[in-house]
Amino acid sequence: MQQQSGTLFTISAPSGAGKTSLVRALVDAEPCLQVSVSHTTRPIRPGETDGVNYNFCDRSAFESMLNEGAFLEYAEVFGNLYGTSQKFVEDQLASDADVMLEIDWQGARQVKRLLPATCSIFVLPPSEKALRDRLSQRGQDDMDTIERRMAAAVSEMSHYVEADYLVINDVFDEALLELQAIVRSQRLQTEKQAHRHSAQLKALLE
Ligand code: GDP
Ligand code: ADP
Ligand code: 5GP
Repeated sequence: MQQQSGTLFTISAPSGAGKTSLVRALVDAEPCLQVSVSHTTRPIRPGETDGVNYNFCDRSAFESMLNEGAFLEYAEVFGNLYGTSQKFVEDQLASDADVMLEIDWQGARQVKRLLPATCSIFVLPPSEKALRDRLSQRGQDDMDTIERRMAAAVSEMSHYVEADYLVINDVFDEALLELQAIVRSQRLQTEKQAHRHSAQLKALLE
């Protein structure tokens, strides 16, 4: 896959750290950023829409897509399969857009290995208590699910060391500004700017 003036980002975090809310606000602030909609075998939650939050499918449909090579990466998280469409990412990068993948650390590791120019971001909550409170307040998971997610959180969080950038989501608006700074700094890299503004630079230097 050829990267052009766009950047491929991954954002990973333990469940409840706030990555979905942050990415939603980031896209409003940075309209050039396209978010990939993953395929998942997880049951749809109240308030989610098929094709918007995820492309929901059953295990056999997911496995057929996997055998056809449709996924750039995939992983099993909490017993459900999640995967990123290779075609979506390719098409967006070919059109010079920035692309954000909201994927777990296993997926982020696969993407970084395949495409080393990927910019990886990790989001952590400020405390264990904040994480538990956010999972409860979200009101989308039952107590068993919340406990399973809390139990997995420490091991998930230990993977922050693999990421290029670390954002602590304590005050939401500050975390959002930090994410914007990361996206903009990648966008302003000389090689990408030169590709984006090639005609202007040529005229300037004639
Ligand atoms: P959340 O934890 O509340 O965001 O719950 P989700 O069900 O939306 O996501 C569960 C996990 O799957 C998270 O760690 C996501 O980052 C991860 N995830 C979502 N989509 C993908 C994907 O396409 N690929 C991979 N590898 N992980 C994904
Ligand atoms: P994730 O996608 O990482 O599982 P969400 O974006 O669904 O997390 O956020 C979990 C809950 O925490 C949501 O109810 C969200 O509104 C809330 N939340 C996110 N960031 C903050 C923050 N900085 N302070 C307080 N609550 C937050
Ligand atoms: P949830 O089921 O709560 O929406 O997500 C659980 C976890 O799966 C989250 O950590 C989320 O980031 C991750 N996830 C969602 N989509 C993908 C994906 O396409 N690939 C991978 N690897 N992880 C994903």
